[in-house]
Parts: sequence; structure tokens; C-alpha cells
Amino acid sequence: MDIIEPIAAFADNYIWCLRHGDGQAVVVDPGDARPVLEYLRAQGLSLAAILATHHHPDHVGGIPELLEHYQVPVYGPAHEDIPGRTLALEDGQSYQIPGLAEPLWVLEVPGHTAGHVALYQPGEPGVLFSGDTLFSVGCGRLFEGTAAQMQHSLSRLRTLPDNTLLYCGHEYTMANCRFALHVEPANRALHAWMAEVERRRAAGLPSLPAILGTEKQVNPFLRWDEPQLMEQLRFRTGQDLSDPVAVFAAVRSWKDQS
Ligand code: ZN
Ligand code: FE
Repeated sequence: MDIIEPIAAFADNYIWCLRHGDGQAVVVDPGDARPVLEYLRAQGLSLAAILATHHHPDHVGGIPELLEHYQVPVYGPAHEDIPGRTLALEDGQSYQIPGLAEPLWVLEVPGHTAGHVALYQPGEPGVLFSGDTLFSVGCGRLFEGTAAQMQHSLSRLRTLPDNTLLYCGHEYTMANCRFALHVEPANRALHAWMAEVERRRAAGLPSLPAILGTEKQVNPFLRWDEPQLMEQLRFRTGQDLSDPVAVFAAVRSWKDQS
């Protein structure tokens, strides 16, 4: 497996840096070039490739400046406008990225944006770069897609193995936990994960990576078929929601209003 480290950017973005020991590094979602260039310099690394999950500036804004320093391939979603893109990532395909030991698989996961992709590297454990689609205990806002698209996208990610390590684009975990406690106040796994997140953040560490198996137990946006959660929504909305898309949409709009 590659070594994966966070490069903090802006208020709460993570640019993930992957390497496997040959002095070459790959970055995911470089919204800002400065912290990446500083990190590479400090670690004595050179850049081998750039990956992007979606077109928002806080994920791709640093690409042009990075390309001034390193002439490297840029892998980005096929159906979005990504600055400097040299290779269009298509759903269900795998790609051997320069600088990485193992190929990455692409899952198209529309909802936050229309062409958002997630990147999955199988292994023991596998790793998932979910951009702004799946956060720990949360999911992205629906800027360009429908609730049905997002629920379908999340259902694809939910089928990945439980031991998959989740690397997402933002440090939103603590605030997400506080919302999730309103949805499932008695969820013991959620309380346990929140305590662990508190410990990591107090130590100055990222809350990430999260573990996908834990997310399935604690993330209200992956739990559209959970009886307790459906009961809480029934109480809140007065509606009997059982359809997975309707349950997901109700949780999403609750969070949007909170
Ligand atoms: Zn975004
Ligand atoms: Fe973002």
C-alpha cells in the first residue's frame, strides 16, 4: 500500500498525498498549489501525477500552478471541466497512475456535482478517495444532482468492503457527528466514533481516515434502511418514509436546514 498523508489547505480541505517510497508523489484534489509545493520540498519528493474528483475550485484551483513546476499528467472526471486534464476518468475503468504501486478504479458518483468521481484502490485494506461525495458521518450537498442520484452514488460506495479506509475532501467530521446525534441519539457506534474523533482532533490530528464499516453504522446518509432512523424521521416529518431515496432526501434536507 502507498503511504497516504494529508496536506491541509484553506480552512478545512485536505489534499491527500500518496507515495510508495521512490521519491515520487501523487496528489488528490489540490485546491491550492502553495501547501503542496511546500510539502514536496520539505519531504524531498517530486510530483508524478495529479488526480481530481470534481471541478470545484477548492479541489482543482492549484492545478495550473503545480503544472508550472511539474509537467505531469492530470487525471480528472470525464464529464467535468478540469484545468489541465490530460486523461478523462471513466466509470468502471481502472488506471495505472505513475508513482502509484496499484491501479485506481473509478466510480462515477453524481450528486454533489454532475460528473463527480470517487477513486478506489483495492487492497488489504482498500482505500477510497471520495472527494465531496461521502464524508465521515456526512455527504456532500446536492449542488448539481438530485437526491435520487446521490443516494444511488452512495449505495455504490456502501458496497465496498468494510475495512476500506475513507479519505474525503474536508474536515467536517465533528460537526457531522453533532447533526447525526439528532438523527440517531441512541446510536452507540456513533457515540464511540465521536469520542475517537474528539481525541484525534484534540491531539491536532485529522479525524481521517475513517473506516467504511464504521460509516455504515454511524453515517445517517448511508442508513436509509435503518428502522430506528426511519422512525425518527416519521416522528419529525409526520410522513411514513420507507423508500430509500425519500429517506435519504429527508435526512439531506434536515441537515440543510440545521
Ligand atoms: Zn465540492
Ligand atoms: Fe470541497
